[in-house]
Amino acid sequence: MLEETELLVVGCGPAGGVAAREAARAGVETLVLEKDAQIGVKRVCAAGLRPGFCTTFDLPKTIVHCDTPRLALFDIHGREHEVFFGPGHTTTREELDGTIAQLARAEGAQIRTGALLRSFARDGDRVVVEYADLAAGLRRRVSARTVFFAQGATARLEDGSPFAYEGWRDGLMATLQYRVYPERPAAAIAYQTLELHYYRARDGRMLIGWMFPKRDHLAVGLGVMGKMPGAQLRTELDAFEARVRARLYPQIPTRRKEEGHLLYGGMPRPAVAQAGALVGGTAAGLVDATNGEGIFEAAASGRLAAQTAASAGLRSGEAAGRYASALQARFSTRLRRRVRIMEFLCARPERFGMLFESLAASPPFAQALYREDRERTPADRLALYAAAARFALRALYA
Ligand SMILES: Cc1cc2nc3c(=O)[nH]c(=O)nc-3n(C[C@H](O)[C@H](O)[C@H](O)COP(=O)(O)OP(=O)(O)OC[C@H]3O[C@@H](n4cnc5c(N)ncnc54)[C@H](O)[C@@H]3O)c2cc1C
Repeated sequence: MLEETELLVVGCGPAGGVAAREAARAGVETLVLEKDAQIGVKRVCAAGLRPGFCTTFDLPKTIVHCDTPRLALFDIHGREHEVFFGPGHTTTREELDGTIAQLARAEGAQIRTGALLRSFARDGDRVVVEYADLAAGLRRRVSARTVFFAQGATARLEDGSPFAYEGWRDGLMATLQYRVYPERPAAAIAYQTLELHYYRARDGRMLIGWMFPKRDHLAVGLGVMGKMPGAQLRTELDAFEARVRARLYPQIPTRRKEEGHLLYGGMPRPAVAQAGALVGGTAAGLVDATNGEGIFEAAASGRLAAQTAASAGLRSGEAAGRYASALQARFSTRLRRRVRIMEFLCARPERFGMLFESLAASPPFAQALYREDRERTPADRLALYAAAARFALRALYA
């Protein structure tokens, strides 16, 4: 039996959830396939949100655990550089993804859990998707006018699909995180701060570490480009967590839960749309390589996908072209630049400290760096280019 729908969304993370909610709200018949039995519960993430995220995506502030006006950047020598912005926020993915899914259902989207994408193929002007109904143990097929692929870092789009990107595997990062539950609250500053640490692993590779506070736990984790054996990554994380503990919760008994997942830190995927099929979120490579931020980009791409699916009257090829151009204009330049900045910094890791010193000394530089290109005022651009030029000169000749 072949089911039919207007928009089929694969994956119910922030990209898929926002797409489903906003498309359904615009009157588009929407079906979501999500492989997990419960939305968001298995997502491994530090779940830091940029300032204004809840307002931008019309989400209740009740999902926010901590407001974090302070960003603490630690260089390869462990020196701390303090930057104020925002404030940023933290949440958990069970709350974020779960809330977005609930709101999508309220708008009329149908969300099917335990539904694992297997394959897709064009059929005239439609796309036919085959998925495994994990509860019933059956294969099912859906034909859709538009399919939005939003399966995150594990998206399998490299095997003969029109979206295949040869650089994809090289951009994958291994991550491991502890949810640390202290018996008593940690030091007060922990709950006002997002910490990012950049330093060398024992094998010489660069690691990014983080501590993001939540109401009842601290997310303490590490990421590394490429693969690292699980035991080695755990040894690195144990050493990192011990350092965080010494500063923020010494002598407080804790219990912890370990979780690991892939993250993407490479160039955005070059091909993200074809007539009737769109790719968004991390599956499209929309992650900031300097800090792992991808929730905002995922949600924003979901919004663009919803607008594309709702653009009645446009031929599907034209609508896909508009989606690809909008994604390109909004994210590609910035995210490509972030990959290059990361490569520049990692080539001589001393440069991390120099950059953090500049950010800490010049709040307008930090603010301007954080904004999207289209949000930047002429004054932002001036501050950004002047500070970037000063930093580049110093970093090149240091
Ligand atoms: C350790 C870690 C920490 C991070 N911290 C942050 C942070 O603090 N802030 C931030 O902004 N970003 C962070 N990120 C990045 C962020 O998690 C992603 O950018 C974001 O989740 C991307 O959203 P998405 O909707 O594209 O994909 P995802 O959130 O990965 O959602 C994909 C969904 O698709 C489902 N799915 C996958 N395959 C299939 C299939 N075959 N069939 C059906 N469903 C499928 C999955 O179950 C999942 O629900 C972090 C990532 C990691 C790994």
